[in-house]
Amino acid sequence: MESVEKIPFARQIPIRYEVDVFIAGGGPAGVAAAVAASRLGSKVFLAEGHSCFGGMGTAGLVPWFSPFTDGINFLAGGVGQEIFNRLNLNNDYSLVINAEHLKRVYDDLMTEADVAFNFHTQLIDVLLDGKQISYAICNSKSGIFAVKARAFIDCTGNGDLAVMAGADFEKGDKDGALMPGTLCSLWSNIDSENRSPDHRAMLEKAFVDGVFSIPDRHVPGMGFLGAGIAGANIGHIYDLDGTDDESITRGLLRGRKIVPEFERYYKEYLKGYEKMTLTATASLLGVRETRRITGDYVMTLDDFKNRACFEDEIGRYSYPVDIHPNKNDPESYKQFHEEFTSLRYEKGESYGIPYRSLIPCSLDNVLVAGRCISTDRYMQSSVRCMPGCFITGQAAGTAASMVADSNGKKTTHGIDARSLQNTLKDTGAYLPNFKK
Ligand SMILES: Cc1cc2nc3c(=O)[nH]c(=O)nc-3n(C[C@H](O)[C@H](O)[C@H](O)COP(=O)(O)OP(=O)(O)OC[C@H]3O[C@@H](n4cnc5c(N)ncnc54)[C@H](O)[C@@H]3O)c2cc1C
Repeated sequence: MESVEKIPFARQIPIRYEVDVFIAGGGPAGVAAAVAASRLGSKVFLAEGHSCFGGMGTAGLVPWFSPFTDGINFLAGGVGQEIFNRLNLNNDYSLVINAEHLKRVYDDLMTEADVAFNFHTQLIDVLLDGKQISYAICNSKSGIFAVKARAFIDCTGNGDLAVMAGADFEKGDKDGALMPGTLCSLWSNIDSENRSPDHRAMLEKAFVDGVFSIPDRHVPGMGFLGAGIAGANIGHIYDLDGTDDESITRGLLRGRKIVPEFERYYKEYLKGYEKMTLTATASLLGVRETRRITGDYVMTLDDFKNRACFEDEIGRYSYPVDIHPNKNDPESYKQFHEEFTSLRYEKGESYGIPYRSLIPCSLDNVLVAGRCISTDRYMQSSVRCMPGCFITGQAAGTAASMVADSNGKKTTHGIDARSLQNTLKDTGAYLPNFKK
């Protein structure tokens, strides 16, 4: 039982790094932000809580990237394009991830860009000076330490840094319900050439036969890597709050428990999977949704429907609205399916992402990028895709570098959008509405 009693806690801690830009989290957003800022000459320190870069796409074993393009134009230009090229991906709709290859690509990009970083290093607090963060407080194997910086970027996926600094946020739907998570997994010994074409075809029969403890109609499926190996995005974990350590712990236990249920389903009801062997479950629990930090602009479903253009747009992205239902009943799945199939674009269509959606309203030297930028739920479910995170990460890194360069003269709110767009365009961003 958790005690509510509190104790004071104070220590003298070393300032181990003094940099221009501090970044919390090294997922797709954090890597893009760090590489962009460092290449512009900023001194960068990135704290990554896990053992590698990539977040959900590596430690989380998410099996595919969503599209980098709108079917015609390459949207994740710049850092995203480099990652795409280094992975030798092609322009297919789904792009299967080899997590070990992706880890090395991120390692190389970060070291070549001369970014300072440490793994197993968690942001645990911030010190504020008015509306500015002055220090990030981190914990690592060597102990607690501070990082002094001029600009700070929250790439934790959950808005941890911004919330530690007092930023407003929204979380989930109007009742606070969140999309379910998934503990992704890796499998071998699959005969992918001779597999059943529709992995969902036998689900209803398996429900009747009692294969699953919770019947889940929404099974995204597997990405096939060759040599009988596949990454799997199967099995929803309901009632998960990715900002609550006890909920995460229960979620991991639940995830590992339902994997054998799916194994039985695939082996007994489908062709090609009879000998499938579990190789790994992810070391990071797959969390689709937690906080959305409230920024100077909140992107909404209307922006999606209108293929919005913004004067301060830092990029454009294109992916359907993809809100995984938080209940497993047929009606909830039907609603998801209707949204996912109707709220989508034709080839060549995309929506703009305004710089203002990266700026927490109440803070002057903080930006957010990745899954927790300022949006409603509909937009979050689209822009959270990894290529979208490369776009917002690169923009946040570029803007943070500009804030740091101004020597305290400019806040994040005061950055000239045209100068930002100019630099982004020079570094490969897709900005069709910006004319030099
Ligand atoms: C099950 C699942 C399936 C998905 N499927 C797809 C898909 O098919 N295609 C696609 O493109 N996207 C997909 N996504 C979405 C995508 O993977 C994420 O939205 C994206 O990775 C978010 O990137 P990010 O950089 O914002 O955060 P993350 O990828 O979550 O990375 C955040 C990083 O920050 C670190 N961190 C967190 N808190 C701290 C802290 N306090 N201190 C230090 N470090 C910290 C974490 O360890 C992590 O490495 C999926 C997501 C899930 C969960």
